[in-house]
Amino acid sequence: MRDVLVLGAGMAGVGAALHLQSRGWTVALVDRSAPGSETSYGNAGIIQGEAVEPYAMPRDLATLFAIALGRSNDVHYDVRALPHHVGPLLRYWWHSSPRRHRRASEVYAGLIAHATAEHDALIGEAGAANLVDRGGFRILYRTARAMDAAAAAAERLRARYGVRSQPLSAATLSALEPALKVTGEGAIHQLDAWSIRDPGRLVAAYAGLFRRRGGSLVRGEAETLTRTATGWAVRSADGPVEASAAVVALGPWSPELLRRFGYAFPMVRKRGYHRHWRSGRGLNLPLMDAANGYVMAPMVQGTRITTGAEFAAPEAGGMPVQLLRAEAAARELVDLGAPRENTPWIGTRPCMPDMLPVVGEAPRHRGLWLHFGHGHQGFTLGPTTGRLLAEMMSGTPPFVAPLPLRPGRY
Ligand SMILES: Cc1cc2nc3c(=O)[nH]c(=O)nc-3n(C[C@H](O)[C@H](O)[C@H](O)COP(=O)(O)OP(=O)(O)OC[C@H]3O[C@@H](n4cnc5c(N)ncnc54)[C@H](O)[C@@H]3O)c2cc1C
Repeated sequence: MRDVLVLGAGMAGVGAALHLQSRGWTVALVDRSAPGSETSYGNAGIIQGEAVEPYAMPRDLATLFAIALGRSNDVHYDVRALPHHVGPLLRYWWHSSPRRHRRASEVYAGLIAHATAEHDALIGEAGAANLVDRGGFRILYRTARAMDAAAAAAERLRARYGVRSQPLSAATLSALEPALKVTGEGAIHQLDAWSIRDPGRLVAAYAGLFRRRGGSLVRGEAETLTRTATGWAVRSADGPVEASAAVVALGPWSPELLRRFGYAFPMVRKRGYHRHWRSGRGLNLPLMDAANGYVMAPMVQGTRITTGAEFAAPEAGGMPVQLLRAEAAARELVDLGAPRENTPWIGTRPCMPDMLPVVGEAPRHRGLWLHFGHGHQGFTLGPTTGRLLAEMMSGTPPFVAPLPLRPGRY
């Protein structure tokens, strides 16, 4: 019998559930909250068709000193929390050598190449086209030196991977985004990306499609996962739910559950914040302010500012240092207006040290499949790696090579 419990209804879980369903599996999608209400809700909403190279850990001394001294808004850390992070960070450092990063990028680019097409199919079927802008996003540079370096990097990505982008002068940027008061030295317009005006609502629309096709959405607690004589079971609000297979797609919560089954996945947990502002005249497309490490995106809820990586203790409360700095920098660019929420949203990017997601069967547990660790691009990649997982589980030839993503590498 092809039946499966998919644990976690973020973009990774919903993406896998839809692909399993279309290959004939009976799927129960289990979450303790509504679909798309955690990390897949709070992100910058960019389907990053341009993100062919995953974020490596900086290894040059100037950048490391800037981070250590708190001068970069890309990264913030609480020194007392570092013991929680040091193991995964050392492995991240090792994997970030130019040679290893190049190898990871080849794999990553092979996944990213499918991202917009995989979303396109689901957006069409889910009737969610109203949430999508296919016009890309822009990265603003405040100095000529930064703009020149970005143009050279963009040209390198075009030559190597075919990533399409266009340098924009300050005057062109101003004409395209009349809300901008400052346009710096111009921007790089990333043309292969799409943006979503409410990321959580896109996941909810995909979950709606899953339900219309006959899938069941179950409120349940993944921590109750147990092995049964014939497969796997969890407790739900309506009693136990069982299936022959289970998929762990719990984003940043995945390693916690898997620890109970004897697995120690070294996740690099990069927290990020967002908040919405009631801007009068907003931007047309998302804008990254490269010098200040944030993205400002036009959303249904207002202008959403999302921040870079923060290393905090596991249950630490909010320290919105980066968000305050980002707000100050964003106010130079646009009229932000008043914030919508009293307290910023906090989430965690589930990054793996080798910058690649974990996709495949658990090495020591038959029928337990893993689908997490999508880092900075899980909103982009959920449907793509969901398809790969479904193909592997169904015994059909995988459309991309699964070996570099196998769970057994940890
Ligand atoms: C600030 C920020 C900006 C980002 N911007 C982008 C971007 O522009 N583009 C992009 O591609 N990616 C972006 N990302 C990354 C992206 O958001 C994540 O990689 C992605 O959302 C992870 O999806 P997921 O389904 O794995 O996890 P989640 O969306 O977190 O889903 C996990 C699900 O598991 C459920 N769950 C957890 N524990 C339990 C339990 N015990 N029982 C039952 N259910 C449970 C949760 O309720 C949740 O629904 C960003 C991330 C952050 C933080």
